[in-house]
Amino acid sequence: MAFLTLTNIQKSFGPVKVVHDFNMTIDRGEFVSFLGPSGCGKTTILRMIAGFEVPTGGSIVIDNKDQGNLKPNQRNIGMVFQAYALFPNMNVFDNVAFGLKVAGRPKEEIGARVKEMLGLIKLEHLADRFPYQLSGGQQQRVALARALAPKPQVLLLDEPLSALDAKIRVSLREEIRMIQQQLGITTVFVTHDQEEALSISDRIVVMNAGSADQIGTPAEIYNRPSTRFVASFVGTLNLIEAKVIDPATNRVSIGDQGVTLREPLGAVKAGDTVSLALRPEAGSIAEGAKGDTALTGEVVSSNFLGSVVRTRMRVGQSVISFDMFNSPGLVPPAVGETVTLRFTATDLLVIND
Ligand code: ATP
Repeated sequence: MAFLTLTNIQKSFGPVKVVHDFNMTIDRGEFVSFLGPSGCGKTTILRMIAGFEVPTGGSIVIDNKDQGNLKPNQRNIGMVFQAYALFPNMNVFDNVAFGLKVAGRPKEEIGARVKEMLGLIKLEHLADRFPYQLSGGQQQRVALARALAPKPQVLLLDEPLSALDAKIRVSLREEIRMIQQQLGITTVFVTHDQEEALSISDRIVVMNAGSADQIGTPAEIYNRPSTRFVASFVGTLNLIEAKVIDPATNRVSIGDQGVTLREPLGAVKAGDTVSLALRPEAGSIAEGAKGDTALTGEVVSSNFLGSVVRTRMRVGQSVISFDMFNSPGLVPPAVGETVTLRFTATDLLVIND
């Protein structure tokens, strides 16, 4: 059931249009991430939902209520920013209590709610500390508790993890997801980190220059990118140019090797060029493999990445990366060696845009 609806949202700063006609409905309790490179407009959309920016056009409805005429403090929204933005002169308890105090809630209710929130973020023992006495991760958990304390209808998270180091980032994102599911709160999360978005979202909006290129579940976005931009932004991917041999049988050539695809090539004719996508983890080396789902090439590099060895081989004009899982007995192919990569017909995607 639609809980947050964005209809034809647009935003220009002077003559520059930064959000183009954006449409989306978000369900109650859903966790949606806006993912995209710097400057694509994701923060601007979040700020419009919060009321910090006024849309140039379109409407924002939360739980059947148009937010158009509401100021930020009249909206029932909790927000967490990248820079923790805690009140430096207040201790943890007072930071978390802030929204409830402003709303004029009774003292006993505030005490109970703050205790509950500090329990949720597991920082009950630090209630008397001031922000400067906390680590970055602890400060961000307090910011989360402060945003949640007044029981907002929607939680907005603007790159809340980007200022933290890698290990804390991973543990805090898991904690955020657990708390979000526990409370069932509708959440919009902005990030430029694809792994982050893939790991915690119900759905992802991949933004490209002010528009959504694709909206889907993490698996849909990863397994079936609908545009070249999504394909290259989400995960590591080989983009391979191929020549159409026979559109009726989905047969193409890569260099001088023929391959038959599972999915239709679309409106193309023999001799046209099409773009294919292949994830590095899709194939495996199979010496002597032949036929429609194998490619042979010369190894140009091999890099040890820990869990995998990423090897690149040249096939015609394309260089194709593929991963070999690390194991004690693994002997990666040497540069200059000829290897054959076998994959399944569904691994090769046709990118139409
Ligand atoms: P980042 O991850 O860098 O924050 P983003 O995708 O969130 O990127 P936005 O912050 O939404 O991008 O900005 C989108 C575009 O709008 C950028 O080109 C930015 O320079 C511009 N912009 C944002 N706020 C303003 C403003 N107040 N005045 C003028 N231009 C702005």
